[in-house]
Amino acid sequence: MSNTNGRTAIVTGGARGIGAATARRLAEDGFAVAVLDLDEGDCRPVVDAIESAGGRGLAVGVDVSAEAGVEAAVTRVAAELGDPTVLVNNAGVLRDNLLFKMSAGDWDSVMHVHLRGAFLMSRAVQRYMTAQQWGRIVNLSSTSALGNRGQANYAAAKAGIQGFTKTLAIELGRFGITANAIAPGFIETDMTAATAARIGVPFEELKAQRAAQIPVGRTGKPEDVAHTVSFFVSDGAGFVSGQVVYVAGGPRG
Ligand code: NAD
Repeated sequence: MSNTNGRTAIVTGGARGIGAATARRLAEDGFAVAVLDLDEGDCRPVVDAIESAGGRGLAVGVDVSAEAGVEAAVTRVAAELGDPTVLVNNAGVLRDNLLFKMSAGDWDSVMHVHLRGAFLMSRAVQRYMTAQQWGRIVNLSSTSALGNRGQANYAAAKAGIQGFTKTLAIELGRFGITANAIAPGFIETDMTAATAARIGVPFEELKAQRAAQIPVGRTGKPEDVAHTVSFFVSDGAGFVSGQVVYVAGGPRG
């Protein structure tokens, strides 16, 4: 499956969870995939999996909220893997707390990674997309965008991602570029495992509690989100732009 469609994709926060599953899926779909995360070594196992399945991958260490680092990372991807025309803004952090206990640092960290990160990455990559008159941007929002106790920072960032996505769709559509958002519900990853640990509930118990409230009767897997990314970045999805799809096992929004 060595880069059968000739296109290069970037997945941020690709070392684990939803990002890792998305990177592997896009490689299966025929993209060369740059796996970006804070630590280059953490990206390596995902790239190894892509390469051992016959694909092309590149591990890049970068903080998506750092302007110069983002520019350098995207330039490196273009030089070593090919001009990127697919971008999945997936990197994310949680700094949950009730409003009265939330520090300004907790607020800023979440805004920086989700919003500033998606902005810097999209601005850096759009030049390759406009040059090729083809591009796909997929941004990770969340059901928390609709409001969630203890997540004033995260809910604001994930709602912001939706407005950002719709604006990119409007500005970039004429260049053959689509921008869409995916708003997952509860997905089994290190992020939700950390939430379970923080609130003192075993992860299996938290998953069972949440599954009981989800219409399809289970919690989500990273592959559920990766599948939706795969649709958005496909050639056939060129008339779908500015949308938010809730991947939550039931209706939201
Ligand atoms: P995760 O914590 O398992 O992985 C997130 C990755 O992002 C990590 O590898 C981390 O190192 C990386 N990252 C964090 N800050 C970064 C930075 N500044 N620069 C580069 N990389 C950085 O999380 P996940 O559960 O796989 O979530 C992925 C995305 O999906 C996030 O945007 C998250 O908010 C969103 N999301 C997750 C869920 C869920 O239930 N897991 C639900 C809704 C939305």
